[in-house]
Amino acid sequence: MMDIVIIGAGAVGCAAAMELSKYKLSVCVVDKESDVCEGTTKANSAIAHAGFDAEPGTLKAKLNVRGSEMMEGLSQKLQFAFIRNEAMVLCFDKDTSGLEVLKQRGEKNGVKGLSIISGDEARALEPNLTDEVQAALLAKTSAIVCPFEMTLAFAENALENGVQFRLSAEVTGIDKTDKGFIVKTSRGEIEAKAVINAAGVYADKIHSMVSGTPLKITPRKGEYMLMDKETVPTVSRTIFQLPTKMGKGILVSPTVHGNLIAGPTAVDIDDKENTATTSEGLNEVRAKGSLSVKNVPWGKVITSFTGLRAVGDSGDFIIEESDVPCFFDAAGIESPGLTSAPAIGEYLAELVGKRIPLEKKADYKDTREGIVHFAMLSNKQRDELIKKDPAYGKIVCRCCTVTEGEILDAINRPLGATTLDGVKRRTGAGMGRCQAGFCSPTTMELIAKKLGIKTEQVLKKGIYESEVR
Ligand SMILES: Cc1cc2nc3c(=O)[nH]c(=O)nc-3n(C[C@H](O)[C@H](O)[C@H](O)COP(=O)(O)OP(=O)(O)OC[C@H]3O[C@@H](n4cnc5c(N)ncnc54)[C@H](O)[C@@H]3O)c2cc1C
Repeated sequence: MMDIVIIGAGAVGCAAAMELSKYKLSVCVVDKESDVCEGTTKANSAIAHAGFDAEPGTLKAKLNVRGSEMMEGLSQKLQFAFIRNEAMVLCFDKDTSGLEVLKQRGEKNGVKGLSIISGDEARALEPNLTDEVQAALLAKTSAIVCPFEMTLAFAENALENGVQFRLSAEVTGIDKTDKGFIVKTSRGEIEAKAVINAAGVYADKIHSMVSGTPLKITPRKGEYMLMDKETVPTVSRTIFQLPTKMGKGILVSPTVHGNLIAGPTAVDIDDKENTATTSEGLNEVRAKGSLSVKNVPWGKVITSFTGLRAVGDSGDFIIEESDVPCFFDAAGIESPGLTSAPAIGEYLAELVGKRIPLEKKADYKDTREGIVHFAMLSNKQRDELIKKDPAYGKIVCRCCTVTEGEILDAINRPLGATTLDGVKRRTGAGMGRCQAGFCSPTTMELIAKKLGIKTEQVLKKGIYESEVR
């Protein structure tokens, strides 16, 4: 019997696992996919929001601000990419009351470093802003983060502190028993005293396996375009437009990897698997992005993708013990869910602690060694690394300068990559302009060797016939 089963290995499930691994508890994370970070967490804007958007008093507001405060320290201890690059919300109207509302809301939420600047002041900071910009809210604490590295870091830290992961295990049913729950998965049953439902767009399906109370999650599609790395960035801050009731609008932002991202659209759909991009969606991204920023290199788009927001009915995150004791929902975690994830982890641990006594572990390890990024090292550091391990002297991904040493580390570490996408998210190999055209064969050979399969059996994503973990 486990103490806690967490359903979902996205940012929220992995953050909860990391937080709960600080205590003397047995915890198991299950996910239907073969890797962590396969849901919404892999396809979003990757902004660590400052916290001025959410209504004061909501869980979104409280957990956004707390998450943003926690993230920098976590990024250092757990070694994931995080850059406090600031943000601007643009106003194209002479009437700047919309910006005032956001500023006051942010200040009520406890966000520091907010100011309203004129269009000219904004253009002095970001010369590529269009002439139509009349004023902007400048948010000094806004940041960008690598969502894959962050989630993998949470998962690896949880694993190192004793959490089990059962991947490629779809939850198909949950029975309530006298002692707790039996979680039925495609890879066997797990008994647990408590369950945390962090299943993203499927949180309603998981909830209804146990509870009779209504919970509806609507997928809201967001389409993006990602541009090639630039020597001189088009913008260095994240550029938003004033938000609407459908979300924060189309942004243009640098990524932590040095690309430029534009998007997302916001369209409610029924199909929870529909992550196709559309010409209408991408045209909208181009048209609206061009209102904010001129000289966006639209001709240098290297990929486009879609993420699905998990939108609940209340407008707020739904993080609570359900009507069934010891069954906890973390549902409706739309934006700013990535930013809030570490704070959601803390909040869930508090809720669980009301049911299961939490006793701190003396030997909890709060650091994690990340994968070296060869491209970020000085020549001296590169030389030293190659002397220690010649695999770091072989470049596999030329677009992003990723070495064989990094790929081997990504494959061989606990909870390591078993697919091309898994390697890409851990190392960046395949994220560049050729989109893995050049590096795939070598990466496939390295994965095949580790898994003991033929190169042609290596998958881009998904589950191997012979279970790999
Ligand atoms: C377009 C867009 C832009 C966004 N931009 C930002 C942003 O800039 N900043 C920000 O803070 N937030 C942003 N977000 C929100 C953020 O991405 C999400 O809040 C966050 O990723 C949600 O994480 P999660 O763990 O709840 O869900 P997910 O990452 O979706 O994880 C849920 C997991 O549950 C698993 N699962 C589902 N059903 C089952 C089952 N039956 N059995 C086993 N496993 C199951 C899935 O496989 C998945 O891995 C954005 C979201 C979108 C879509």
